[in-house]
This record gives sequence, C-alpha cells and structure tokens, in this order.
Amino acid sequence: MGAQVRFFVPSEFIRGSRVMFSPEQSRQIARVLRLEAGASVFVFDNSGWVYTVRLERVTPRETWGTIVGREEGRGEPPVHITLYQALVKGERMDWVLQKGTEVGISRFVPVVTERAVVRRREKRARWTRILIEAAEQCGRPRVPSLAEIQDFFSALNELSGYDVAFLAHTGERAVPLRDVVASYREPPSRVAILVGPEGGFTEEEVSAARERGAMIVHLGPRVLRAETAGVVIAALVLHHWGDLG
Ligand code: SAH
Repeated sequence: MGAQVRFFVPSEFIRGSRVMFSPEQSRQIARVLRLEAGASVFVFDNSGWVYTVRLERVTPRETWGTIVGREEGRGEPPVHITLYQALVKGERMDWVLQKGTEVGISRFVPVVTERAVVRRREKRARWTRILIEAAEQCGRPRVPSLAEIQDFFSALNELSGYDVAFLAHTGERAVPLRDVVASYREPPSRVAILVGPEGGFTEEEVSAARERGAMIVHLGPRVLRAETAGVVIAALVLHHWGDLG
C-alpha cells in the first residue's frame, strides 16, 4: 500500500513523531480508503515539510501514526501571489479558491466592491475546508491563507507590500498584461492580483488602485467571468515568472 494520500494536519496535532488525525480524517482513512495499521500516508503541516507517516492505530473515530520520514515539499510556487477577489456568488467563490490553490495562489483576500452583487457573508469554515482539500489534492505542502473579507479601499492599503500589483479591468485604460510582464527584467517575488465582480470595477476604484501603484491590465478581447480572471492571471504570472508549464 503506497503512501499516495496526503493529509493536512495542523502542527498542534503533531507531538514529537506522533501524528493525530481528526475524526473526519480517521473516518476517511478507515472507511473510505480502508487503510490498515502499517500503511503509510503523507502528512503536511504548513511547515514546508512533507512527512511519511506509518499508521499505528486505525479506527473510524481515532487514528494516529508515527513519522518515519520527511522531505521538503515541492509544490510551493517561487512567486507568492495574493488574489484580491471581489465577492462572487456562492459556488463561484468556491471555484476560485479551489482552482486558485491548484494553480499556485498563496493567499486569498475576498473584497467587497461597489458593484458586488452578493451580500457580505463570511463562509470561513467552508472556504477553509476547500483550501485544505485543494492543497491536499494538488500536493502543495502549505494551505494558502485566507484573509478576512475586506473593503476594497482598505485592501488597497496593502498594495505597498508587493513588488507588483495587477488590477484586471476590461475598460479602455488597461494595458495588455503580457506587455507589462515582458517589461520586467527580474521576476518579482510578491505579486498582488485584483479582480472585480460580475459588474466590473468602477472608474473610481480603478483610479484609486492606480494611485496606489497598481498596474491596470487587460487579458485581451474576451470578457472572462469574475471567477475565471484571477485563476488565468495567476497561471500567466506563474508561467512567466514561476514554475507553471
Ligand atoms: N461587466 C464587466 C466585466 C466584468 S468581468 C465589463 O463588461 O467590463 C469581471 C472581472 O473579471 C473584471 O472586473 C476584471 O477584473 C476581470 N476580467 C474579466 N475579463 C477580463 C479581461 N479580458 N481583461 C481584464 N480583466 C478581465
């Protein structure tokens, strides 16, 4: 039985070499995967390490194992990307978090913008679960972080902490993302991406972001859905400057 399966275990559940799995993970290990004591799984805890864990006791309620090896995880992209995503409806936000994690986004900041159609509703538990599952599935050794929902204008205060910030806009004053990326000699290490809601950003929002140093970029002639744009930009950024492709 190979160590194919990966589990995120918060570091407080790792004591010395002993790894305690949650009740949900215990059920999955015992009932769904039908693993038995002696089998191995991979575990990561956001330290950057990936541990090989030999299961010692497996029951649907309580499962634990012992770390028998560790290696540095290889799934973290070399460029740290934060996506400031205008709130989008229901499952679309889930999609952004899942696909964004797979592609290589490291931090998500849901933002409330002028034209956001959804009411400000925190779904932290659900969103966190999606991020963990996506990290487990794609083999990243760290679960991307999730910020509290922020107002667009307060989110702009963070932009000085990045090497480059891209605000995606379909309006006239936007320049092609490709041209901006090509103008850099050295790959930036911290990138912010700002994506608007279905109704787009207002001119006031675009101007405010520009004043804070954001580059206003477009992706060509097709209008992408709000939940698609961030994932596409992250893919392009990691293709040019990172480890995608
Ligand atoms: N209704 C708006 C489009 C909104 S699309 C309009 O007609 O202009 C939702 C968000 O996705 C936009 O705010 C932008 O951030 C991003 N986006 C979608 N397609 C894009 C493109 N071709 N170039 C740049 N940004 C795009």
